[in-house]
Amino acid sequence: MANRKKLIVGNWKMHLNTSQASLLLHRLHERIKIHRDIEVVLAPSMLVLQPLSMQIDRRKFRLAAQNAFHKDEGAYTGEVSFTMLQDLVHYVIVGHSDRRYKFGEDLPMVREKVNAAIRNGIMPILCVGETAHERKNGETLQVLHDQVTTALSDLTADDVANVVIAYEPVWALSSGTDYTHHEIPTPDGIARSVKAIRNDVAELYGKKAAAGLRILYGGSASSSTAHGLMSAEGVDGLLVGGASLNYHEFSGIVDAAYRLQSEAKE
Ligand code: PGA
Repeated sequence: MANRKKLIVGNWKMHLNTSQASLLLHRLHERIKIHRDIEVVLAPSMLVLQPLSMQIDRRKFRLAAQNAFHKDEGAYTGEVSFTMLQDLVHYVIVGHSDRRYKFGEDLPMVREKVNAAIRNGIMPILCVGETAHERKNGETLQVLHDQVTTALSDLTADDVANVVIAYEPVWALSSGTDYTHHEIPTPDGIARSVKAIRNDVAELYGKKAAAGLRILYGGSASSSTAHGLMSAEGVDGLLVGGASLNYHEFSGIVDAAYRLQSEAKE
């Protein structure tokens, strides 16, 4: 199996002002050790990226933006471009279901954003996943296929080495506070979707690109479910929303990734 580094991403969504974000980062610094085999990424609001970048211990954490605009500059009032984020972040979350369904981002727009990220040397974390309705209709694998193939269609196999995909079934996402008792997919269900995504990438870019691709699971992950979710075949880490705002929970999730890595080495 390809040696893919575990990746844990905390998506803080539209939470925490500058001082609250600084305090959470301080707590995370206290709790989370440097793990060579695990990459931990924080995605705070756009406003907070700059101050956090001054405070962050880069051996422990990397930063991600939650969104950016696909044009590099111009008359786009209110937007921030990938170009502007170049020196600040390693990653940008692209195509999150909040963006797709609350802000009307369609398949071509998500593709433009993936292209803009790659063009600007930032790694996109491309979110894909089926809604409850699509799941009920048995359309999950078709939806994943459409979302993955359109988003990546302008890239080369070398570009794909800089992409992360997050499988986030929309029906499993928490509201931010109910993540401990929300419905989540079974490890088998996750493995099936992750395998389908990897097969889609293999068809487009070959087996090597697919084997190197990191695929995360996202949707109501918590410190108590993290180990099981990450044990699903093909899963390389988690994209965490609600639980990433609680330092006990988030550091517990990083610990679970560490335990899993240690078990794999035994
Ligand atoms: P959740 O959010 O963990 O609160 O479900 C995950 C996400 O939306 O990325």
